[in-house]
Amino acid sequence: MKGKLFIVGTGPGAPPIRTFRMVEAIKQSDVIVAYTTYAKLIGDLVDGKEVITARMKEELYRAKVAIQKVQEGKVVSLISSGDPQVYGMASPALEMMCKNNLDLDFEIVPGVTAALAAAAKLGSPLAMDFASISLSDLLVPAEEILHRVKKAAEGDFVIVLYNPINKPLLERAMAIISEYRKPETPVGIVKSAYREDEQVIITNLSDWKRHEGIINMITTMIVGNSRTYTCNGKMITPRGYDRRYNFELNNDS
Ligand code: SAH
Repeated sequence: MKGKLFIVGTGPGAPPIRTFRMVEAIKQSDVIVAYTTYAKLIGDLVDGKEVITARMKEELYRAKVAIQKVQEGKVVSLISSGDPQVYGMASPALEMMCKNNLDLDFEIVPGVTAALAAAAKLGSPLAMDFASISLSDLLVPAEEILHRVKKAAEGDFVIVLYNPINKPLLERAMAIISEYRKPETPVGIVKSAYREDEQVIITNLSDWKRHEGIINMITTMIVGNSRTYTCNGKMITPRGYDRRYNFELNNDS
């Protein structure tokens, strides 16, 4: 029997935000390899399958086990939350195949990444060019991360911050952004998007620290660009229609 590796994104949490292909991939799989928490998120799909869980820092172990199972002829789903590209399992799995000269049958199944899930809850903050930055300094030196923060701030990109749990680094990042943006620039904080304990906060660059306490491992932050504003309790980043057209309902010009 010929094995296959699905590298699957589960989306942010709740079943309605899954993709059909993700559900199909998991149903077709004999083996599921996942970080313990993510295995719970797909618990309804894995009955009767071999489920191999591992802790957070064991990403290479998970990639290795998944590949070994495929070599045994199994169909395997290697699970990431959100999308498997975005700080997920796709890259380590492909690197592992590349460095071992393995030509396995594989398919990457995209999912709704946290930036998009958080943005949907906040309004339309990502309507223009944006930069996504992970504040995890486990594999990337802090100075390199902060350099990217500075360049993104300078470039007036909307900035999505993944992994903001490292509070000292988060505070340094926000201080850098504040050098380039007005204190009233909207900041969205979304904890556990599409999960039971979801929390959505819209604050701004001068006031965000008041909410630092809610920031945990499952929180994403979005800092607006120079044109982002808040209206009706939502963040809006204009696409530029206001520069050329009229938003009045009864005026066609
Ligand atoms: N591959 C994932 C990201 C993994 S990195 C994706 O595409 O979404 C882990 C980070 O993702 C967390 O620290 C947090 O910043 C973000 N995250 C994951 N799930 C989330 C959720 N449901 N709500 C808010 N942020 C989330």
